[in-house]
Amino acid sequence: MLCKGCGLCCFLSVELVNGVDIVPEEMTEIVYEGGCEYTQMKMKDGHCIALTEDGLCSIYDSRPSVCRDFEFGGERCLDMQLSAARLGQRPLRQEVKVCG
Ligand code: SF4
Ligand code: SF4
Repeated sequence: MLCKGCGLCCFLSVELVNGVDIVPEEMTEIVYEGGCEYTQMKMKDGHCIALTEDGLCSIYDSRPSVCRDFEFGGERCLDMQLSAARLGQRPLRQEVKVCG
């Protein structure tokens, strides 16, 4: 299935993998939550700061691994599209955090 390029997945928080993801430092922030410390993409207006007004990724060639691995047409992709269609709007930011 092809990605529709709707940009909805860019409304998820994006955790970075240290030593793997190389993105502009000014686009990142360190977050402390629930005893965990991790680096993530900064958010702006509810979406990743790298998402342009045109709905494109401004760092596409060096986008984080979680973005590269996001499955087009996968369960989360389809869920977000369905939610947006039902609500007639983009879904709110969703939190997905695993730390250990
Ligand atoms: S939510 Fe799915 S269709 Fe939309 S940009 Fe992301 S991967 Fe592509
Ligand atoms: S880095 Fe690019 S692909 Fe990943 S969430 Fe941000 S704008 Fe979307």
